[in-house]
Amino acid sequence: PPRPFSFATVADPLGWHEQGDGKFFLGLCIENGRILDRPERRLRQALRAVATEFGFPIRLTANGNLFLANIPRERKVQLGELLAGYGVSSAPPRTATRSICHACVALPTCGLALAESERVFPALMDKIDGILEDLGLQEEPILIRMSGCPNGCSRPYNADLAFVGRAPGKYAFFAGGSLAGDRLAGLEKKSVGFEEIPSLVRSYLEAFARERLPEESFSQYWARTRPR
Ligand code: SF4
Repeated sequence: PPRPFSFATVADPLGWHEQGDGKFFLGLCIENGRILDRPERRLRQALRAVATEFGFPIRLTANGNLFLANIPRERKVQLGELLAGYGVSSAPPRTATRSICHACVALPTCGLALAESERVFPALMDKIDGILEDLGLQEEPILIRMSGCPNGCSRPYNADLAFVGRAPGKYAFFAGGSLAGDRLAGLEKKSVGFEEIPSLVRSYLEAFARERLPEESFSQYWARTRPR
């Protein structure tokens, strides 16, 4: 009979994992699903080298990350060294929140964008990573998403915290979705300036750090303190 299963998180298992048959898979975080070369991190070249030199199956996840699968134990070090040679780390990102955050493409690619999203999101998340570390929340997976217009291609409407573009530099702020993706967020503020976002997020995270119960996730905390 099928084993019982429930979706408790939309997060991908990043980093190294045993895949059930003695071999391993590596979950690689692809920021906003964008595969490109930067001077310090030549991801595109690295993936081409993995495909041509190793031939491991590559799977794309719904979050835009990649799994490199069917890796024998004895080849893990070799693969890690190849990736490191291109500046690509096999380790998950700096915080659990950073592992699962997402922004839509928005400007300059999407003609429907009202505000920036993918281009400004990494710098914003750098600041939020710092806040999470300040508050000791670096291991907490809090789902943060941004989109450049209300169409919501990055799925902001079921994130813990989300910013939806309304005009250049202005975002509607939503909160209260869930890590399992099974609850809709509610509108908290109609319009927030981009520069205000870090301090706004800090205020929500400080309240969470102060008021949470032991082991309680942000999604559970929100459901307990803001019942609908
Ligand atoms: S959410 Fe809007 S701006 Fe972002 S990709 Fe979709 S349509 Fe474009």
